Amino acid sequence: MGAFVLSKGKIVSLTITVASPGSREQRTVETGTTGLDLFGTNPDIVAMKVDGEVRDLRAGIADGAEVEAVPAASNDGLHVIRHSAAHITAQAVQRLFPGTQLGIGPAIENGFYYDFRTEKPFTPEDLAAIEKEIKQIVRERQPFLRRVIPDAEAAVEFAAEPFKMELVDLKGKPQDAETAGEVGGNELTVYENMRRDGSVAWRDLCKGPHLPHTGYLKAISLTRTSAAYWRGDQANPQLQRVYGTAWASMDDLKAYQTRLEEAAKRDHRKLGAELDLFSFNDLVGSGLPLFHPKGGIIKRAMEDYVRQAHIDNGFEYVGTPHIAKEDLYYTSGHLPYYGDFMFPPINDEGQAYRLKAMNCPMHNLIYSSRGRSYRELPLRLFEFGTVYRDEKSGVIQGLTRVRSITQDDSHSYCTTEQVADEIRHLLGFVLKLLRDFGLNDFYLELSTRDDGKKKDKFLGTDEQWAVATKTLEEVALASGLDLVADPGGAAFYGPKISVQAKDAIGRTWQMSTIQLDFMQPERFGLEYVAADGSHQQPVMIHSAKFGSIERFLGVLIEHYAGAFPAWLSPVQVLGIPVADEHAEHLEAVAAQLRARGVRVEIDHSDDRFGKKIRNAAKQKVPFVMIAGFEDVAAGAVSFRYRDGSQQNGVPIADAVAQVASWVESRRNDSPTAPESQG
Ligand SMILES: [Zn+2]
Ligand SMILES: [Zn+2]
Repeated sequence: MGAFVLSKGKIVSLTITVASPGSREQRTVETGTTGLDLFGTNPDIVAMKVDGEVRDLRAGIADGAEVEAVPAASNDGLHVIRHSAAHITAQAVQRLFPGTQLGIGPAIENGFYYDFRTEKPFTPEDLAAIEKEIKQIVRERQPFLRRVIPDAEAAVEFAAEPFKMELVDLKGKPQDAETAGEVGGNELTVYENMRRDGSVAWRDLCKGPHLPHTGYLKAISLTRTSAAYWRGDQANPQLQRVYGTAWASMDDLKAYQTRLEEAAKRDHRKLGAELDLFSFNDLVGSGLPLFHPKGGIIKRAMEDYVRQAHIDNGFEYVGTPHIAKEDLYYTSGHLPYYGDFMFPPINDEGQAYRLKAMNCPMHNLIYSSRGRSYRELPLRLFEFGTVYRDEKSGVIQGLTRVRSITQDDSHSYCTTEQVADEIRHLLGFVLKLLRDFGLNDFYLELSTRDDGKKKDKFLGTDEQWAVATKTLEEVALASGLDLVADPGGAAFYGPKISVQAKDAIGRTWQMSTIQLDFMQPERFGLEYVAADGSHQQPVMIHSAKFGSIERFLGVLIEHYAGAFPAWLSPVQVLGIPVADEHAEHLEAVAAQLRARGVRVEIDHSDDRFGKKIRNAAKQKVPFVMIAGFEDVAAGAVSFRYRDGSQQNGVPIADAVAQVASWVESRRNDSPTAPESQG
């Protein structure tokens, strides 16, 4: 269409559409025009989208195509950069260590890796040398050229690469996502990096796309090495994996490295030990946390808060056992589908029991324990149910991914007409809770059914899904928060809204969820007597506010970097006498504070005053209360706050009132000295 055709039938020009955000421009271009002709003068354009598919800038453009530039800093651009960085890293490794065999080298979140079979593991010095070689290859500005090759030819060209040959054999068979990137679908393509003299410097089987040349790689850093098995199987040869990160610019790389450092400082596993909050013990097992007294205080503060909040929001507090007969989970439908996540059965005299992996089946039995009338709906049940999930050791991470999970799990049973109101109610509840804990920046995600090929994997009728999805969407939009679509992300039994909260350094955590369920009311035969006397099935809505106590605590530790708001701090006031003789004075003030419900400790250790102040700072105590001669004489104390500011000579009654009202207010900022005191 639109091509200008000479009388001999030779096409000399093409009509294409060049699209950019907010504009679409029709252009007539010469036959053979490539992305480089369109965008080559801008080094920040690393690839192009042709009719929606990311392609090499070197690729030709067909008549009638719609073309769009892919900027380096976009998700697609970063993927191209990182994939190309993996090739360049592999070339550097083979230049430095001839004979090293290649595994796979995919782009991953924030970077890439490449697996190698080497004589011996890479040392930190090796990594530095590889980085230097990478810089050399970047300076060489080697083009990436794409070529389709027949399998037979690949067999010759990659004869020295047994792992690559294995991938060629796999081509066209079902593969995991990572190996699929290497060889693509039915067509085998190779990307070749060329030297100035036109000879091939390096090649790899890959479906691309890639940067036009190695000089486009502006910011790369190798981060670490690890051992990995070929295709993730321990029976296969062990390989050495080199991880790297690559970005659109040095500024972006530096910002990423700063974020990593900041995240490392906030790591809840590290802070959990330093602040004596929790530990894990091999005798108990991985993913099974032990909460220490100080962690227990925060945990209890969270539990007290959320228990009361549920009651205030119309929930009734219930309790259910930690194990149940296996049949319960067949009734609920969690078995066999959810079997991988549940611990294996416990057999008792021929009866199989399971540790519970979810609370809902038992709540359903509370619902169905007697007849229910429409007058009781919405019926809301809630408990702190500790559930057990057999997470594989590889994914367990501190408190954020554990195997014993205390859910603040609730279930609302309501009529169809009540669904929208109930979701609105739950969303309001959840957002208030997050704000009360100091998380103020969030957006919502709406997970819906995959309406494509996988549609039949989802239970429920088209109408049920359409109505439920529309209801969730309307409530979500009315909240005024940003709503992100997650098509295909729903559980097979219903759509859900999840709240994604951003922490103090901009990382997003999935927190609360509101989940509709078409399956369980049916499977448990739940019903209520409607106003007209007919028997109807209630709609069931699962919701978790914290999600889990463990994970939420992990997120809070990282959000606050351990400097908790005073109301959550395990020690709210730490008294430090300037000399031993001032301790008694502080004890008297402490007694008054305790009477107001404040958690106070006095440092009676033999440490010197300066050391005690430093210890208090390390423990991130919000109020450090000091007393010396002058304070004792004046019937006062002095405060040193977490930010280092100080307020001297505060009369005792004022000091007690100041701390007690700050704690009671549950404000989430840190106390500081009034301006005038400095
Ligand atoms: Zn590649
Ligand atoms: Zn549930």
